Amino acid sequence: MKIVYSEKCLRFSRAGHPESPERVAKAADFLKEKGYEFMEPEKCRKEDILEVHSQELVRKVGEGNFRSMDCPAYEDIYEYARLSVGGAIKAAEVNGFSLMRPPGHHATRERLGGFCYFNNIAVAVEKLDKRVLIVDIDRHHGNGTQDIFLGEENVEYVSLHGSGFPGTGRKSEQNCHNHLFTSTVKDEEYLEVLDRMLSLDREFDILAVSAGFDTYKEDPLASKIQLTTQSYRSIGQRLAELEIPVFCVLEGGYNSQKLGENIHSFLRGLEN
Ligand SMILES: [Zn+2]
Repeated sequence: MKIVYSEKCLRFSRAGHPESPERVAKAADFLKEKGYEFMEPEKCRKEDILEVHSQELVRKVGEGNFRSMDCPAYEDIYEYARLSVGGAIKAAEVNGFSLMRPPGHHATRERLGGFCYFNNIAVAVEKLDKRVLIVDIDRHHGNGTQDIFLGEENVEYVSLHGSGFPGTGRKSEQNCHNHLFTSTVKDEEYLEVLDRMLSLDREFDILAVSAGFDTYKEDPLASKIQLTTQSYRSIGQRLAELEIPVFCVLEGGYNSQKLGENIHSFLRGLEN
């Protein structure tokens, strides 16, 4: 699978923020060493973003005119956020993996939050105009993606997540299928639930994966979901068994030393 990546996404940071350039830079180095083919994304158009976000949010991010603990108003964040959306769009075009930041799945139609400014995967899915299954394996519920696609006929959203931020996704609603883990969960139970969640009686043209790796057992944002590196390979295999063309967009995953290895394990499962 091709990796969609630009070093430009490393150019914004704030000391101590878990969503750091290092996590993605180290992952890129690791995947380059493993021989993956890399390609550069282009910035998306403003019109693309406006398909899923309000004028007001786009204006705020464009002007850097917002206050958020999680989402600093970095200089030129509008340009970086557009490039990250462009990464998701490119990944959808080439069936690749967008290894870009900032992440996206917490950005709702109206609001940024949880390290996310624009919802990268949502813009890419909206642009496809196909029957899309979105599977979100990030440790946090993709409240933004659910907000954007709730009730949308052509899209089904499946998410497995833990409790805590953002506090949504406690139950399934319409086309959004949520599983909240409330106690400690390891590989075996996680995979059982994933199997159940993926048994949807419906056909899709494409699978879009919100690929978060903060479910890793040694993630600095520790949670009750404690998966091993090996489990990502099994998750990838389960998704491959759906036999639908696939693209992936990086969400969370804050263990800089292990992110590349976990992505590699996932892609091995997805591609075999
Ligand atoms: Zn997350």
